[in-house]
Amino acid sequence: MAKVDVKIEGMYQEVLKRNPGETEFHQAVLEVLECLGPVVVKHPEYLERKIIERICEPERQIIFRVPWQDDKGIVQINRGFRVEFNSSLGPYKGGLRFHPSVYLGIVKFLGFEQIFKNSLTGLPIGGGKGGSDFDPKGKTDDEVMRFCQSFMTELYRHLGEHTDVPAGDIGVGGREIGYMFGQYKRITNRYEPGVLTGKGLTWGGSLVRTEATGYGATYFVNEMLKARKDSFEDKTCLVSGSGNVAIYTIEKIHQLGGKCVACSDSNGVIYHEKGLDLDLIKQLKEVERRRISDYAAVHKDAKYIANGNIWDIPCQVAMPSATQNEINGKDAATLVKNGCIAVGEGANMPTTPEGIKVFLEAKICYGPGKAANAGGVATSALEMQQNAGRDSWSFEYTEKKLEDIMVNIHRNCFETAEEYGAPGNYVLGANICGFIKVANAMVAHGLI
Ligand code: NDP
Repeated sequence: MAKVDVKIEGMYQEVLKRNPGETEFHQAVLEVLECLGPVVVKHPEYLERKIIERICEPERQIIFRVPWQDDKGIVQINRGFRVEFNSSLGPYKGGLRFHPSVYLGIVKFLGFEQIFKNSLTGLPIGGGKGGSDFDPKGKTDDEVMRFCQSFMTELYRHLGEHTDVPAGDIGVGGREIGYMFGQYKRITNRYEPGVLTGKGLTWGGSLVRTEATGYGATYFVNEMLKARKDSFEDKTCLVSGSGNVAIYTIEKIHQLGGKCVACSDSNGVIYHEKGLDLDLIKQLKEVERRRISDYAAVHKDAKYIANGNIWDIPCQVAMPSATQNEINGKDAATLVKNGCIAVGEGANMPTTPEGIKVFLEAKICYGPGKAANAGGVATSALEMQQNAGRDSWSFEYTEKKLEDIMVNIHRNCFETAEEYGAPGNYVLGANICGFIKVANAMVAHGLI
């Protein structure tokens, strides 16, 4: 806690006391609070109005039972969550995660991050997040459908295009959004595309939404490299995970002239020195829902490393795109030692505080998730705009908007870091820039 301003330290202790056992939430709060010391010196009104204490307390937390029947007719019970964290800038917006590790602390860390991320996009969206400890892996389509229907049977009453608009996250892609949208429509008797994003293209979805988080994160890294008069050209890159974010990060890296040599899933790592075959990865993961180990059966010159650590492979650019805390202090030191010059976080909070310290001290380009992966939610907001206008935009037009948003986020973080005397520190830049906009809106709205 040494780095936290004394005025703020007590607030962090209070967060620990009020939210016991929620370690990921504590970590996300600490990362933001550590940056706010100089902000409250410039803005004493934030202390008077208790903006920091209020921002750390979700506006609403919903926890509910999700009963469903598996294919054998056996009753299963999961737990559902929606944390509506902050609506100062717009309706709550943030994804749903289906993964066995989900509990309140994970949903709150993600919801808290989402407040500042959504603020950074410059679009009118508040922060929220949800999910369930349901594991879609190994379930049949029918089982996933029954689960999604039961989940939405409770969640629907909390949603609305002006209230709360969920999207996907780990374990929730187009299939799950489709089942949830269908159930919402059935219960409410209303065709309201604006109530969920990540929809299919024929029923209200937006072009580029599928690609948005990965493309956006890669654009962000490209901007960091450009600021140092460098580029992706001929850079060897690592992308962890092999899900939605990872796939489109690899695609954009290849388009920008880099070479991605490894990706992973929770069982192991694929290393393909001559460059990953993205068409094969898409076929395995998006179409056939198989494991990444199957890649090595097709490409004999690729190596599958069961339980391997992707960060041991030498690279110049690393883009963690799987899950929280996947890069620890030791991994970060290995990356730096092996010549890594840029890290862009496609995943949310993938680097531990020890890892972040290593990157900042080494002064490499380090783009934290709340800035680097904001392209996903930004394009969700573009989907909402198209739904509200009953319109659909071309791929090129939407991608240009995404690129402009990422360039702006980079510029704002970069300039804020300089303004606060920490040039090149995107963690500080993102946290302060995201915070101030929300704080000002909260001051304007009075004590609510
Ligand atoms: P997917 O479910 O599509 O893919 C997740 C990938 O990460 C899979 O390859 C999965 O492997 C791997 N993974 C998940 N959990 C673990 C774990 N505990 N250990 C190791 N590997 C793991 O999710 P997304 O691609 O959508 O999300 C990835 C990250 O990006 C998450 O942190 C998410 O919050 C973040 N994000 C996503 C956005 C989006 O638009 N989708 C927007 C912004 C951030 P396996 O199949 O073995 O589980």
